[in-house]
Amino acid sequence: MTDLTRRMIIVGNWKMFTDREDGPVLAAELVHLVDDLGLDIDLVVCPPFTGLHAVSEGLNGSCIALGGQNMHWSTEGAYTGEVSPRMLLTSGCRYVILGHSERRTYFGETNEMVNRKVRSALTAGLTPIMCIGETLAEREAGETEAVVATQVEEGVQGLDADGVEKMVLAYEPIWAIGTGQVATPAQANAVHHHIRHVLTGLFGRDTASILRIQYGGSVKPDNAAALFSESEIDGALVGGASLDASSFIAIARAVLGRS
Ligand code: PEP
Repeated sequence: MTDLTRRMIIVGNWKMFTDREDGPVLAAELVHLVDDLGLDIDLVVCPPFTGLHAVSEGLNGSCIALGGQNMHWSTEGAYTGEVSPRMLLTSGCRYVILGHSERRTYFGETNEMVNRKVRSALTAGLTPIMCIGETLAEREAGETEAVVATQVEEGVQGLDADGVEKMVLAYEPIWAIGTGQVATPAQANAVHHHIRHVLTGLFGRDTASILRIQYGGSVKPDNAAALFSESEIDGALVGGASLDASSFIAIARAVLGRS
């Protein structure tokens, strides 16, 4: 049974795509297309850091919010190449993606580092979108539930229920990211259900039922509606398809098919 109290959230992760020229163009296309959407959902785009300012200006006055793709946990300091929560906030961000599998795989981010970032984002007033998910080898070894449980437990360490309720989780099976291989709605829903079970054990049923869990991994206009019809799926974190304005808005429109 769908919990109607959870507001759907669709987030576009632009990754290391778009520059000073085409970022604002994409933002303008989105603003144009979203105009007549009339959907009561949260829509967020996360451009690269260098595009935040221009995209923020382009989104101004629209219902589309801005997010960063990563941040350091410190307020400021000698951390070459990093950005702080406050830098994101003052660039117009309300959200930040943390612990994306590409950060974990290519840049060595651990659950402990992700946890520090999550706590820092909440303290700063940003909504963390914490990504978790298993590799193909882990799924084939029957370890999916254990892997995501550890990622959740270690990722929310030290938080209270209030903090957890403000977060968004993105379940992104690594084998489905950028591969065109999407988890079936039933597979995704089962993992989301398990994640909520883990959170219930940690924070109680009310908190677990408030936190939103997105699915991510090759979400496209033609598979979004089936995913969104599952009761535990509260939206999507979209990579490739978010770089095309009409595809991203078509995914948002698929929320309408949710019963
Ligand atoms: C992602 O990078 O978070 C993602 C889900 O990418 P894609 O939609 O391209 O699989």
